[in-house]
Amino acid sequence: MTRARDPIADLRRIAFLLERANEATYRVRAFRSAAKALAGMPAAELTERVGNGTLTELAGVGDVTARCVAESLAGEEPVYLRRLVATEGSDLDAEATALRAALRGDCHTHSDWSDGGSPIEEMALAAVELGHEYLVLTDHSPRLTVARGLTAERLRRQLDHVAQVNAALPEGFRILTGIEVDILADGSLDQDDDLLARLDVVVGSVHSGLKDERSKMTRRMLKAVANPHLDILGHVTGRMVSSRPAGVTGPGDRGHRARTRAESDFDADAVFAACAAHDTAVEINSRPERQDPPKRLIRRALEAGCRFAINTDAHAPGQLDWQRFGCERAALCGVPADRVINTWSAEQLVAWTHTRT
Ligand SMILES: [Zn+2]
Ligand SMILES: [Zn+2]
Repeated sequence: MTRARDPIADLRRIAFLLERANEATYRVRAFRSAAKALAGMPAAELTERVGNGTLTELAGVGDVTARCVAESLAGEEPVYLRRLVATEGSDLDAEATALRAALRGDCHTHSDWSDGGSPIEEMALAAVELGHEYLVLTDHSPRLTVARGLTAERLRRQLDHVAQVNAALPEGFRILTGIEVDILADGSLDQDDDLLARLDVVVGSVHSGLKDERSKMTRRMLKAVANPHLDILGHVTGRMVSSRPAGVTGPGDRGHRARTRAESDFDADAVFAACAAHDTAVEINSRPERQDPPKRLIRRALEAGCRFAINTDAHAPGQLDWQRFGCERAALCGVPADRVINTWSAEQLVAWTHTRT
């Protein structure tokens, strides 16, 4: 028989690790309140309440905390705790710095061909100055008309143009071709297959119908993830957050607080399992107003065995320096560099995407 763990100690440990990872206060409080509510309870009563499911009748104990208690008493490390311990004892700041230093390129950027503010050349030069070896240009696809999405015809012209720009750029750096393709309502991708096959990197994102009901959104995402053209699943939940992330102060933050949007609803475990199975990378979107996926989902994707891409989704040259924010979030979740595809060289990256066609 497995020996029971101390459920109170586990709840308190979870609260501590959540706090350390800078999670929302209400989340931390849930675990502390549960620990407090159960602290004085005789072991026999605790076991009985877990057995007959009456733990949640107590003030301060919810479904999630009750599950943790049940797992502890059964002698298992609670799943919730297991997802957090990856960062235990590490210097998160140093981890984030090391991760940022390991990144050799950016796989999600926009130019003025779609809704970005600057020409491709300008974006590329800024990336060179940041020390990148490559920049993947991922302008929008046709259906995203508000963002001047590129038709197949315009994308073909862009590919010719990129070839010319590349010829003039410093040696050791290159623009990789790509797209941020819309994942359509039925899960198909909004660009011709022959073009998707020709591009170096394909990021796929949901930009419409973000309020699809859960089963529909799950089906939609599963179909996209299984598409061999899709390399990276972009800003997974579509959320917009209003909070100011650590490190962002001053005028750069202006405008980020105006609009917020809830996460879209889907079966994250099913989607991440599919990403792992099809070797589709999960994007950690660095934009301060997105911070997508949220940390609890980054942890689940990590546990599912997914690869990641830490991208800026830059729409202007200065935004290419936002990768640090994504690295901080990744470090808080214990994402190791060897799971991050943009730590690879351009050759390795393209070799990987091409095996996927
Ligand atoms: Zn997008
Ligand atoms: Zn984008």
